[in-house]
Amino acid sequence: MSRTVYVNGEYLPEEDAKVSVFDRGFLFADGVYEVTSVLGGKLLDFDGHATRLARSLGELEMSNPITKEDLLEVHRELLRRNAIDDGLVYLQITRGAADRDFAYPVDATPTIVLFTQAKPGLADNPMAKTGMKVITIEDRRWGRRDIKTVQLLYPSMGKMMAKAAGADDAWMTEDGHVTEGTSNNAYIVKDGKIITRHLGEEILHGITRKAVLRFAREAQMQVEERPFTVEEARAADEAFVTSASSFVMPVVEIDGAAIGNATPGPVAKRLREIYIEESRKTAI
Ligand code: PMP
Repeated sequence: MSRTVYVNGEYLPEEDAKVSVFDRGFLFADGVYEVTSVLGGKLLDFDGHATRLARSLGELEMSNPITKEDLLEVHRELLRRNAIDDGLVYLQITRGAADRDFAYPVDATPTIVLFTQAKPGLADNPMAKTGMKVITIEDRRWGRRDIKTVQLLYPSMGKMMAKAAGADDAWMTEDGHVTEGTSNNAYIVKDGKIITRHLGEEILHGITRKAVLRFAREAQMQVEERPFTVEEARAADEAFVTSASSFVMPVVEIDGAAIGNATPGPVAKRLREIYIEESRKTAI
């Protein structure tokens, strides 16, 4: 059965869901997106995603075509129409269609698209038990990684480099320091301390990162927000990543070298449990 997709105010079968070839999302990657997880038919941290969306739009001087309340309703309606229990809602807003010109058009109407992806058993991803392997690659993205734009080609290339190397993902580095994963924030644990890069323009301000660091502090764990090197990561006791779709995912190997004893560590395991439990409680 075909999915129902939301396009500019209409709920359509995916075959009929279309946008213009002049859309600036298509021509310039002039668009932003969000991915919100769904567990038991409910949205995790919708508020966090809606707030970051508004910020991304603001940074690009793009108008927001929808209120937070209406956006929540569209998310819920799509979950209903597609009978999603566990899965994801993908949302994209672009500056809209306009004759091709580098300057932002003044009168374009933003394009808004939402669709769902069913992911049965999203919280029981078997990789959480084994952990994932990462390689390190140079971070060659643009400099405003704090804006969640749809220009994801370098992260896609990174994912392919990881696959070619027999790994699951790539951690990107700048001046020898890890920025983040291709689609997640990166952490190491040393002597009980959780270390993750500080917020800035160099990384995406993960919604999961924010929640996980809050839970870690509430559980009296020590957190240090600072850049860490690849060498530190290799010598760490544990490593993990966070994202809306993978929650907290242990990392057990970096560039072929085992982290700790090459199995998911206690801090990552505990944070994953807390995150899933607390997120389920506050899901809407
Ligand atoms: N960094 C990057 C580059 C990402 O693409 C993502 C996922 N969108 C994240 C971090 C994690 O962000 P979140 O926890 O909001 O999914």
